[in-house]
Formats: sequence, structure tokens, C-alpha cells
Amino acid sequence: MPTEREVSMEEFRRHLAQTRVGRRIDEVVIHHTWRPTAAQYRGIETVRGVRRYHMGVRGWSDNGYHVMIGPDGRVFLCRPLHRSGAHVSGRNAHTVGVSFIANFDLDKPEDYGGLETGYAVVAALLERFDLPTKAIRFHREFAPKTCPGLKLSLSEFRREVVAAGARASGSRPRIVLLPESRVIECDAQVQDGVTRVELRPLAEALGYRIHDHLRDQGKLYLAR
Ligand SMILES: [Zn+2]
Repeated sequence: MPTEREVSMEEFRRHLAQTRVGRRIDEVVIHHTWRPTAAQYRGIETVRGVRRYHMGVRGWSDNGYHVMIGPDGRVFLCRPLHRSGAHVSGRNAHTVGVSFIANFDLDKPEDYGGLETGYAVVAALLERFDLPTKAIRFHREFAPKTCPGLKLSLSEFRREVVAAGARASGSRPRIVLLPESRVIECDAQVQDGVTRVELRPLAEALGYRIHDHLRDQGKLYLAR
């Protein structure tokens, strides 16, 4: 049974880190829905509606897109990443399809609340699949359409994704624990080449507790 679910950016990153995608991913293809437009958006109900349309009218097995983004910046996981999408004719096998619920032929990008999230989503996908910036593609490169809308520029979109990726890695370094390949995110920043991480969430994720009551002579005691 196909399902869609809303995730936070943090959950999206964790999902990417924990999901085995048994196909090669070469590109991330960007779309807009055209219809429904941003004004017609009703949260996850709109995402369900797109999926029902893709299944009932187009005859596909699920939503054609892997990720959808609302004008309010909400992120929806749609078709599982391990399965090829149905979003770009002849190019589905090795791509991920990300779609904004918008009509960027008409909707002004500067009035759209979901673009920043979209940049972060695409940046996370590039990082997960180790892809260069030029792996970001617009649907209209491969079809006689305007998708993802005439008001979006590919070069500008790519620049914004790079900036979002830099912000994400600058403010939230990811610490990867092996062998379980768990990914933990905690607040951190790099100062003079030293990464300073908030200790408590990291320690707790590693299975340690901080014993504040043992604090002694500048020592902090961590115990399992
Ligand atoms: Zn498209």
C-alpha cells in the first residue's frame, strides 16, 4: 500500500542515512506540480491527491515523485527511494524526483515559503549520493515543458543548493557511528579548526550518561 508521510528536515536526513537504495543515483530532477498550485495546497491531503491521480489516472504503482515540498516548507516522503520514480520520461532509473507543490510559471519564487526547504532537501540528496552540483537537473531539460516553471533558473537554483549544503554542514556536522551506521546530529560549530559539539546529546547517543554530581576538579564524568 503506497503511503506518504511528512518528515522534518532532521528526519529526512536520518531517513537518507538509514535507507538502503539499491539502485545507482546519478541525478536529482526538480519539478513543480503545476496543478495543484500553491494556492490549492491543503497539506498532506494534497500529496495524497497527487498520489491518487498518479495511480488512478496515470495507472502508476505510487506517486511518481520521491519527495514533495509544500509552499509552507513541509517535506513529504512519497515513493520509496529504492524504487525508480515516474517523473521524467526515459530517465527514471537513476534519478530522484523532487516536486514543489507550486506553479512556478505564475507563482513568484520570492513569495513561496518552500524553496529554502527544497534547497536543503536537494543538498541532503547530493550529499547522500555523493553527487556534484551539476547533478541537479530541471525536468524541462528532458521534456518539452516549462517544469519546474519559467520563474525558476537552474543556475540560481544550483547556487542556492550549494549555499544550503554549506549551511547544513557548517551548523550541523554529522557524526557517523559504525558499525550500526547510525547518524547522530547535534549542534556544533567549527572554531579555528576545532569542532565544538554539544556534549550531552552526543554522549547519550553513544550510550553514556553525564554524571554532573561527580563534577570534580574540572573533570566531567561520563559513564555507561
Ligand atoms: Zn516535471
